[in-house]
Amino acid sequence: MTDREIWEKTLADLQSKISAASFKTWFSETRLTRKSDDHFEISCPNQFAKVKIEGSYLETIRQTLGREAKISLTITEKKESGKPTAGQALGPLFKTFEAGGEAKGWERSGPKHLSNLSPHYTLENFIVGSHNRLAFAMAAAVAKSPGANANNPFFLYAAVGLGKTHLVQAIGNEVIKNHPNLPVLYTTSENFTNELIESIQRRTQNSFRKKFRDVGVLIIDDVQFIAGRESTQEEFFHTFNALFLAQKQIVITSDRNPREIARLEERLTSRFGGGIMADIQNPDLDTRLAILQSKTRHLNLEIAPAILELLATRIQTNIRELEGGLKQVVNLMLSQNGQIDLATVESLLGPRATLRHGELPNPRQVIAAVASYYAVREGDLLGPRRLQSLVKPRQLAMYLVRRLCQLPLMKVGELLGGKDHTTVMHAVGKIEKALGSDERLKQDIFNIQKRLEVFA
Ligand code: ADP
Ligand code: MG
Repeated sequence: MTDREIWEKTLADLQSKISAASFKTWFSETRLTRKSDDHFEISCPNQFAKVKIEGSYLETIRQTLGREAKISLTITEKKESGKPTAGQALGPLFKTFEAGGEAKGWERSGPKHLSNLSPHYTLENFIVGSHNRLAFAMAAAVAKSPGANANNPFFLYAAVGLGKTHLVQAIGNEVIKNHPNLPVLYTTSENFTNELIESIQRRTQNSFRKKFRDVGVLIIDDVQFIAGRESTQEEFFHTFNALFLAQKQIVITSDRNPREIARLEERLTSRFGGGIMADIQNPDLDTRLAILQSKTRHLNLEIAPAILELLATRIQTNIRELEGGLKQVVNLMLSQNGQIDLATVESLLGPRATLRHGELPNPRQVIAAVASYYAVREGDLLGPRRLQSLVKPRQLAMYLVRRLCQLPLMKVGELLGGKDHTTVMHAVGKIEKALGSDERLKQDIFNIQKRLEVFA
């Protein structure tokens, strides 16, 4: 068999064992070269793929190549400049700046229409993946024929930051585009409640009712907040019925399924479930990457693919946080003339994103990773000897245990062989200061974090 055939067979085998998204992300540009009988070299398109394959897939690969196979990994050298290669800084990243050098488009600062819609939220710039495909299809159908029987009401639910507001505002904007005479009104359930209370106090309930009933499309965002508020629910029930009977479109979002909203009246629960309903799940890695790419294109910025991959791999919570991470990177790039490397992004992300949701590494693992990275014995690292070769690993171990495990200084001291908390404070301060200028140190931290399998 040729190298290529061997690799194709291996890939086919892998493909059947791992998720399609992981397969595509990590193996799409890999190649195999046979160096000797039992020595194979896999070239990976970037450092992420290399780390990921090394950390997670070698055993599976050996199942095809043979248990004794010696496997080494390299990063494919790219001819074009500007592409990252092993150990290199990523070089200048901006291709063009927007006029004035300002990153625009982050804030919802567009001119407020009477409909309360922000023009930034459109169906076109809503990225569709498997996590939101159904919700998007329904939203598009609603926007096309608002008020049609089958679409009413449209109830959309998802956890925070996954695109509910974006998608329902996009419906509103699309309706305005296609049906300019159809009034659209967007409001949150909190605002609805406040206006209701105000109208009762000022005895302007008639105009309140008129405002919310004389519309073609009413969008109520975050309806869960009316739970437990009797008079709001009562008023909303009547608003709902009036609109429904007049075949006006009602669009509602919530952070959960209506059945799971405690203290929501049964008559509303059943109304909410009477039309079409969709949820949005967490986006997978490919989609997170696509979202980042789309946002950078929109900002007219060129950011190294490896940096986007890092963000997409590490920020798994929701899309708002993903955007937050990108925004941090862009701000840093702007302040550094577009020069930024992976290790800097890594330290920028910090432990918040280093870890999977809610998971902190075990301090023992952190200490072991530091010891093995600097090839010192764990006993020496924790011991009292003041050898020069131990100073940096020891300080770094304290810093990482403190940062990654988020432990108090005293506890860190205890874990590092009974050091005083002032010693820990001093060490953490030293590392933090050094991080401002010491590229080598940043790279070391990056590598150690990799060993902790933070990419898992
Ligand atoms: P929610 O209302 O569910 O809390 P948002 O609609 O406010 O979430 O979304 C948070 C951020 O993520 C917004 O800036 C939004 O534009 C963006 N976003 C969410 N989903 C997508 C998507 N599929 N494509 C593009 N941007 C998205
Ligand atoms: Mg929202």
